[in-house]
Amino acid sequence: MPDSAGPSDSRAQQLRDSLDAVEQRVASACDAAGRHRSELTLVVVTKYFPAGDIERLATLGVRDIGENRHQEASDKIAELAPATRQDLRTHFIGQLQSNKAGAVAAYADVVQSVDRAKVARALDRGAEREGRLVDVTVQVDLAGDDAGRGGAAPADVLALAATIEGCASLRLRGLMAVAPLGADPAEAFERLHRTHEDLIADHPGATWISAGMSGDLEQAVAAGATHLRVGSAILGSRPALR
Ligand SMILES: *Cc1c(COP(=O)(O)O)cnc(C)c1O
Repeated sequence: MPDSAGPSDSRAQQLRDSLDAVEQRVASACDAAGRHRSELTLVVVTKYFPAGDIERLATLGVRDIGENRHQEASDKIAELAPATRQDLRTHFIGQLQSNKAGAVAAYADVVQSVDRAKVARALDRGAEREGRLVDVTVQVDLAGDDAGRGGAAPADVLALAATIEGCASLRLRGLMAVAPLGADPAEAFERLHRTHEDLIADHPGATWISAGMSGDLEQAVAAGATHLRVGSAILGSRPALR
């Protein structure tokens, strides 16, 4: 471990402790569900926190980070040391406008929040321009009230998946969702799991289920999630929305 991430850096120590605590929660949830840790990817959501924290997390072995705003993500990725950037998989998890989607393809390895055909096509054009293949999950709206958090209605998922399969620079990997506010996450993630069963019947390669955040990762592991997106439990509480 390099000195810069050693005991002299108290933020690094704090991140190490909170990452350990989250890993223990994941391990317990895996035990309870009869699953293996290797079935899960922990995406550490670094939104609102500086590039220095991404460097510290990379030193701690984190390989997947999540960002939700294009400008912030783009600026922070550009600040990273080239070696850090090379080892990192960047997941874009925020709502996308079709006029920004193409630009996200310049740095995102995964875009989890594709929820309509227009965004998929714009992302595909951007990825083609960059000469990159971008992994994509369809974001599913589990609230059903169009509360503005994004996501395709479950009934629209298969059509959108077919559109993505038709995009040469995108690779359909599965589904993503956020448990609705105030809902029982276990029940919501079970619905996501059923929607995913319909998806893999048509698209056997689309094995990912991205579900579970700081407050509900246990329920997500129990419902078959393959990706967890954990922010505040590792980085601390975010500053108020700017
Ligand atoms: C911010 C965010 C997360 C992480 O949330 P925490 O509660 O801080 O773990 C996960 N998914 C999405 C889509 C987010 O925007």
